[in-house]
Amino acid sequence: KQEGRNTYRLYRAEMHVKDHQQLALETALRNTVESGEGLEVHYQPLVERDSGEVHGAEALLRWSPPGFGAVSPGEFIPLAERSGLIIPLGQRLMRLVAAQLRAWRVAGLAPPRVAINLSARQFWQDDLVEQVRALFEEFDLPSGLIGFELTESVLLDHQQQAVAILEALRGFGCHLAIDDFGTGYSSLSYLQDLPLTTLKIDRRFVQRLVGEDSRGSAAIVAAVTGLARELGLRVVAEGVETEAQRQALSRYPVDLLQGYLTGRPVDAAGFERRWLRALVA
Ligand code: C2E
Ligand code: CA
Ligand code: CA
Ligand code: CA
Repeated sequence: KQEGRNTYRLYRAEMHVKDHQQLALETALRNTVESGEGLEVHYQPLVERDSGEVHGAEALLRWSPPGFGAVSPGEFIPLAERSGLIIPLGQRLMRLVAAQLRAWRVAGLAPPRVAINLSARQFWQDDLVEQVRALFEEFDLPSGLIGFELTESVLLDHQQQAVAILEALRGFGCHLAIDDFGTGYSSLSYLQDLPLTTLKIDRRFVQRLVGEDSRGSAAIVAAVTGLARELGLRVVAEGVETEAQRQALSRYPVDLLQGYLTGRPVDAAGFERRWLRALVA
C-alpha cells in the first residue's frame, strides 16, 4: 500500500513537471509569435522522378526557442493548434516564405513553387483567401508560386464551403495537395468533388514497399496512383529514403519524389545553393 502511494506521488510529480514544461513551451511560442525569434523555414525539394529536376518545395517550420534548443514540429505544431497560436504562427510562416521567394526573384533566381501546410484551424480562418490574395500582391509573386497542403480531415467537414475556399485559392494559381494520403479513413469520393491538383502518398506506404510485407503496400500504391492518374492529379511519393524504394516506385505512375534520398529539408541558403538556378529571361 505504501508503495502504491509513492508511485502515485511520483506520477503526480511527473505530471506536474510535464504541465510546467508545456506551459513554459507555450509561453516561449507566444513570444516567438510576437518576435519571430528562433523561427526558421526549411525547404525540402520535390523532384521530378524522370528528369531529376526540382519542381517544387515544401516549407517546413523549424523552431529553436531561446533556452530550449530545437523543438520538433511534431511537438510544437500540436501545441500551436491547441493554443490557437497556429493562426499567427502560420501567418508569420506565409510572410517568411513570400519574402524569401521575392528575395530570390529579385536576385535573378528562379524559385520553384513552395507548398505551405495548412491545419484545419488555418484553413477555416474567415479571411484566409484574402490573406493569400494580399500576399501575392504585396510580394509581387507570379500566380501559383505558393501552394498549400491539406490533410483529409480538414476537407471532410463542410465540403461545400471547402470547395468554395479551394476554388478561390485555385484562382491565384495555387497548387492544392492532399497530404499524407491513405492515413485517414475517409471515403474516396471527395477526391472527385474537390478542386485538388496533387496527391501525396504518405511515407508509411512508400517505406513498406520494400521488405517483407510489401504486398499490401504495393497493392495500395498501385490503386492510389492509378486512381490519381485517372482523376488527373499529380502524384508525389513522400518519405523516399532509399534507392530500393525509388526502384519499387518506378512501377507506378508517380510524378514527383520527396524524401531524404532526393533531398533533405534545408535552410534557405542551402536550398539556394543546391537547387536554384538563374531565371532565364
Ligand atoms: P508533413 O507535412 O507530412 O511533412 C513531411 C515531414 O516528413 C517533415 O517532417 C519532413 O522533414 C519529413 N521527411 C521528409 N522526407 C523524409 C524522409 O525521407 N524520411 C522521413 N522519415 N521523414 C521525411 P517535419 O519537418 O518534422 O514536420 C512534421 C509535420 O509537422 C509535417 O508533416 C506537418 O504536418 C507539420 N508541419 C511542419 N511545418 C508546418 C507548418 O508550417 N504548418 C503546419 N500547419 N504544419 C507543419
Ligand atoms: Ca505536408
Ligand atoms: Ca505529408
Ligand atoms: Ca505527416
